[in-house]
Amino acid sequence: MEKILIVDDSLLQAAQLKSILNDEYDITIAQTAEDGLRHASAEKYSLILLDVVMPGMDGFILLKKLQEEIVTQSVPVILITSLSDIENEHRGLTLGAVDYIAKPFSPLIVKARVATHIKLYNYRKQIEIQSRTDQLTGIANRRQHDDYSVVKWKEAVRLQIPFSICMFDIDHFKTFNDTFGHPAGDKVIAAVAKTISSHLQRSTDFLARYGGEEYVAFLLGDGSEKAFGHLKKIRQAVEDLHIPHDPSVSEWVTISIGGVTIIPQAGSSYTSYLKVADTMLYDAKNFGRNRVVWADEKMRQLCEK
Ligand code: GH3
Ligand code: MG
Ligand code: MG
Repeated sequence: MEKILIVDDSLLQAAQLKSILNDEYDITIAQTAEDGLRHASAEKYSLILLDVVMPGMDGFILLKKLQEEIVTQSVPVILITSLSDIENEHRGLTLGAVDYIAKPFSPLIVKARVATHIKLYNYRKQIEIQSRTDQLTGIANRRQHDDYSVVKWKEAVRLQIPFSICMFDIDHFKTFNDTFGHPAGDKVIAAVAKTISSHLQRSTDFLARYGGEEYVAFLLGDGSEKAFGHLKKIRQAVEDLHIPHDPSVSEWVTISIGGVTIIPQAGSSYTSYLKVADTMLYDAKNFGRNRVVWADEKMRQLCEK
């Protein structure tokens, strides 16, 4: 059931709204703007019905606060008020309300508008998720990586925790495509993503498809030895899928991995360390592929095999 938050100081009016919507939605009532803000920040609502005139913090101020907070800014707000003059309606809409219902309201109109805005909200959420997901593999795409890496890097700088960046690349993949065809290649890209992803299950782990047959991941918290060890297991797990490759290059499909672990310092950039990971990947390819090459906290190279 979709959740709706009603913020209204009049319990009578809130109860009236609730009785209109109760059959189809899970309703929470807040009787002050402060309480409304608390609920909106703590729970995921699909819509907020907001009374404009309230003692203390009024609906306009609450609306502005909701728009400023990341967790609440995308939740649609419909203002409900007796201030049916154009000026207030204009003010509410420019502050970011999606709609405006004047009191006294018709239950049918309230129901219809609520349904429309929840439908639009879900549609937008779905598009947003799609725009950040790689279609072939279902993992995050490059755009999501670019945005999320900035956020996580800042966090690691603040908390001074080890940050590992790894790049993965399927070995001799051009030959695979040439031998088995592009659709078979697509299946391999998805299978490798699934295998890597199943080994990165911590809430702080992140994996994205970076390009054609390349992936990038970051892991937080572990030192280089541990990260290096974990990535060796992932490399082995891909080999153990036993996907036949073109025998002229190798028996099974394999991946090469390059990575780096650092404790990020203020003023350092994620991108510069991503380049280090890429250099390690380049070395892994040159040293014979199907191996992990890592740069530790002191930029010493750790090589598998
Ligand atoms: P290396 O071991 O050095 O990485 O060799 P490689 O052949 O894997 O590297 P290269 O970069 O020359 O080739 C990458 C190939 O990946 C070429 C391209 O056709 C294929 N590729 C990229 N994106 C896709 C995709 O979405 N699907 C499929 N099937 N193939 C892709
Ligand atoms: Mg490549
Ligand atoms: Mg490759």
